[in-house]
Amino acid sequence: MKLRFVGTGDSAQVPRFGCSCAACERARVLSSHRRGPCCAEVRVDGQRYLLDAGRSDLAASCERERPAAILLTHYHADHVQGLFHLRWGMGEPIPVYGPKDAHGCADLYRHPGVLAFQPGLKPFRALRLEGVEAIPVPLSHSKPTLGYCLDDGGTRLAYLTDTCGLPAETERFLRGWRPDAVVLDATHPAGYAEPRNHNTVPMALEIIERLAPRQAWLTHLSHAVDAELMSVHLSLPPGVALAQDGLECELAWPRPGSVAENMPWRVAMATRDG
Ligand SMILES: [Zn+2]
Ligand SMILES: [Zn+2]
Ligand SMILES: [Zn+2]
Repeated sequence: MKLRFVGTGDSAQVPRFGCSCAACERARVLSSHRRGPCCAEVRVDGQRYLLDAGRSDLAASCERERPAAILLTHYHADHVQGLFHLRWGMGEPIPVYGPKDAHGCADLYRHPGVLAFQPGLKPFRALRLEGVEAIPVPLSHSKPTLGYCLDDGGTRLAYLTDTCGLPAETERFLRGWRPDAVVLDATHPAGYAEPRNHNTVPMALEIIERLAPRQAWLTHLSHAVDAELMSVHLSLPPGVALAQDGLECELAWPRPGSVAENMPWRVAMATRDG
């Protein structure tokens, strides 16, 4: 399974409009530090699946390669705004899966165009797609939100954003499911008072410690997290990293018992384009 982080920012993105903090100023100069709307894509068996659809160039990217399906975590604008352009496209319908949400976002349901919205997914009920199984798990957010537990038969990836903590039943499920890799919301820096809809970095690290994956990435990051990391030396635990826009990872771990079992996981940095 190949995972690509397309966008790793919160809804304000980095740089944040009008902000002159160190992280925003750096991102204006160095494009590698920019963070776009939070979304990712997964490749399995030649199929391309999109996790969320907030990127502004979504239609162009789908024109280069049509996705087999789009999996939405929820209907906040930063996760679906790319659909408003894409829907007026042509050709075969693109299946769109997501949580049961009567309102969706603006008039997407009323004028779906080329988007084939599927009935709202039932939590913990596996969705079988070509080459991969996706188990939706409820998250704790201000709108109905699902994380996705993806299993290609060899590797297990849990993609969990947006969320503040994890609902007890989701954490119970994840502990039993034992993901190899976890991607988790860590929108706010440590000192953020009263987080309600998103994790702080320490909250995310506690969840990761309990789930004990081989590798974890923090995503949906605000400029404040980047600014904090620039001012204090915060070392993340082994196996935990900040996601970056354009980061591409081949998720593959040797099966238990094989000679290469103790080899480190493979992560390849890719170019930002493509
Ligand atoms: Zn968001
Ligand atoms: Zn800033
Ligand atoms: Zn949200």
